[in-house]
Amino acid sequence: MSQSMVQDALAGLVERNPGHIEFLQAAQEVLGSIVPVLVKRPELARDGILERLIEPDRQVIFRVGWFDDTGAIRVNRGFRVQFNNALGPYKGGLRFHSSVRLDTIKFLGFEQIFKNALTELPMGGAKGGSDFDPHGKSDGEVMRFCQSFMTELWRYIGADTDVPAGDIGVGEREIGYLFGQYKRLANVHTGVLTGKAPHWGGSLVRKEATGYGLVYFAARMLAAAGLEWDGLDTVISGSGNVALYAADKAESVGARVVAMSDSHGYVYDPQGIDFHLMRRIKEDRRDRIQAYAGERSGAEYHEGAEGIWTVPCTVALPCATENEMDEAGARALVASGCRLVAEGANMPCTPEAIRVLHENGIPFGPGKAANAGGVATSLLEMAQNSQRIHWTFDEVNSRLYGIMNRIYDQCREAAEHFGKPGDLILGANAAGFVRVARAMLAQGVV
Ligand code: NDP
Repeated sequence: MSQSMVQDALAGLVERNPGHIEFLQAAQEVLGSIVPVLVKRPELARDGILERLIEPDRQVIFRVGWFDDTGAIRVNRGFRVQFNNALGPYKGGLRFHSSVRLDTIKFLGFEQIFKNALTELPMGGAKGGSDFDPHGKSDGEVMRFCQSFMTELWRYIGADTDVPAGDIGVGEREIGYLFGQYKRLANVHTGVLTGKAPHWGGSLVRKEATGYGLVYFAARMLAAAGLEWDGLDTVISGSGNVALYAADKAESVGARVVAMSDSHGYVYDPQGIDFHLMRRIKEDRRDRIQAYAGERSGAEYHEGAEGIWTVPCTVALPCATENEMDEAGARALVASGCRLVAEGANMPCTPEAIRVLHENGIPFGPGKAANAGGVATSLLEMAQNSQRIHWTFDEVNSRLYGIMNRIYDQCREAAEHFGKPGDLILGANAAGFVRVARAMLAQGVV
């Protein structure tokens, strides 16, 4: 019965979302894994919960026209998908990257529902973005684009309605320009965006939170496998916000980060990545990762980002983008003796990669749990904004640490409760689904 309800919901999903490959991948993973939950708690599938959960509340698509530095008119497409607000105001980042399509935003918004639920904080799920790529654009171009983007988006968001944040291509600079335009249009200074710079309303630790949280989560997974961070060779893909601060925290707890990447290639540094040099190159100078090898003796640069999984390591943290680790990548990790994989990015491992890791008994931490530290700290930023206060670095960091530990506990307990001990994918999906489904049932059919 439960199996057939899931199959019916998935059949409808495929029919209604032709070509939305990533959204289907994400929805199939969640619905496919919660069958044991529906067997044990059939009341949670009442009132069309499954069908309603996979249909966004609202999808907005809009034109974003702006002038580049030569005076030429450029046109991009903007998106905001408000997926589900049963637990609180919509919350989820904005992604600016040339690959962004409605499919991308729907998959990310869907994942966000369960991730936000796992934090136990009052947040619904949403995501947005544009096919605008900030790479190679001047500050003026980025500002004009952000102003035009917000000129449409502002009517759909608000501190109690929908609170966007950053994601790929959207950092403190973009959040600043977006906020400036929102404030001008709405004439209010509220916490309508998170990821703001700490000197004008942002929270300390927000920038570091996803990467730090990932390392706290992975520490629990390591402990369950009888390991600890100290001395472990670690490979981290990406070199953006999540990857950089995962590397920072991993290094500070004694790991040696031996490789990092960007979309063009990866660097291997047998002495351990020099975080401060990497941060200057990627965050301050917005340069390519190749520059690291030129400035650090003993480091090597290799073309092709996917080669990073051939670097021998004990821990692998994919922190770049979706589907970046395929079956071959997972097999390379297994062959070199990797003992743990935890996702910093959203859905970076393909289903085939996850299957290989599972078959080889490698503990796997799904992104919706392991990378939830960013959104959790965004909620802490909202709390500080609405109370007009500012917590210290240590205060926010210790709350983040507590949240990540509770997320891990929930995943572990749910996996056990629903009959698959150690399966953190089931654990994360089940714990998130139960919380959202109960709220939806209580709020009636809409
Ligand atoms: P950034 O834009 O800061 O960084 C993305 C990084 O990934 C860049 O180094 C980029 O390289 C690299 N990259 C992109 N595509 C590839 C690829 N195919 N192979 C290797 N590297 C690649 O983004 P974030 O760090 O914010 O986000 C990374 C991931 O984490 C995304 O999946 C995002 O959704 C997820 N996430 C982010 C959160 C946050 O708080 N920021 C919270 C939770 C999840 P290049 O510079 O060449 O483009």
